[in-house]
Parts: sequence; C-alpha cells; structure tokens
Amino acid sequence: MNNSGKQSKIPVGISSCLLGEPVRYDGEHKHNVLITTQLQDIFEFRHFCPEVSIGLGVPRDPIQLVHTPRGIRVRGVHNPELDVTSKLEDYGQRVATEYADICGYIFKARSPSCGTASVATWTEQGFEDRTNGTGIYAAALIEAMPGLPVTDEECLQDPIQRGYFIEEVTRWYRNHRQSRRSD
Ligand code: SF4
Repeated sequence: MNNSGKQSKIPVGISSCLLGEPVRYDGEHKHNVLITTQLQDIFEFRHFCPEVSIGLGVPRDPIQLVHTPRGIRVRGVHNPELDVTSKLEDYGQRVATEYADICGYIFKARSPSCGTASVATWTEQGFEDRTNGTGIYAAALIEAMPGLPVTDEECLQDPIQRGYFIEEVTRWYRNHRQSRRSD
C-alpha cells in the first residue's frame, strides 16, 4: 500500500519496443496491446532498449547471434566486424544492479538481444543454424538476478502462462519487500 491507501504497482522491466517505442533497428516498434492495457494496471514498467542504450542508434544495422570459435557472439548482419557482445553483457549486468527493485521482466521474444529462448543462431558463413539461442542482454540480466520471473509477449498471450507470471512477480515483490523491511 502507498500513503494514499491505494495498492502500489509492482516495478517490472520490459523491452521498450513492446510499449510502442519506435526503437527497433528499422525504426518500428512492436506495440503489444495486451501489455499496455491489462498489465499496465498492475505493473509499473521500467523500459529498456539495450541496443539503443549501447549506442547503436535508430535505424541501425541489424544484429544476429553467430557461432564462432569464441562461442556465440552478437554481430552485425551486414557487417561481421561489428561485435557488440561485451557491450550487451555489460549493459545487462548494469541494469540488474541499478534497477534491483524490479520484480520481473517482460522481454521481446526471439530478439538477439532481448529474447529469452528460441532465438535464431547463424554460422559464420551466413547460414541459419538453430533456433534455440538466448539474447545476450537477456542472458546477462537473468544471470545477474537469479530466479527473477521472466517471460515474453508470446507467452503472455496464453492466459495460463500470463496468470502464472503475475503470480510469480507478486510473490517476488512480497518476499523482497519483506526482506528490505527487515534489513
Ligand atoms: S527487442 Fe530489445 S533491443 Fe530490440 S528493439 Fe526491442 S527493446 Fe530494443
């Protein structure tokens, strides 16, 4: 509860493009109506576009996950010399530290930065390899905040998965609010 007696909204991180911000590589967005109607009543969104935040700009050269001898890297589709893996990892860790009050995260599905699963991976020769990658920013943030409830806009379309995510976020909020009070 806040001072006015109203229930406080729960802080949740989200990929900016899902709120309708035109931050994608092509200057478009991926506004998700379910999120900005039903979920905006419960959650207070903290929005992040890691690709813009690391300085790639809009519009920008698209990036992709590539299998290399150094492991999976994020490189420019048209410019393989562009490798933003470390910058995206650093930014994921930074968000986890600076926004430690978030109680969940809604990621954009299948993005090489934000996707939590099923992201396409490519060979260095330019062939699609698998579709089981994880976005580099998402992986770094999840590793830095173990157990944080996470989902994506595709999972949220399913009412059962949506309800489960809301429950998990609420539980995380209660547990962490209590532990902060007892500090
Ligand atoms: S998926 Fe992530 S990196 Fe891509 S536009 Fe959306 S917020 Fe930015």
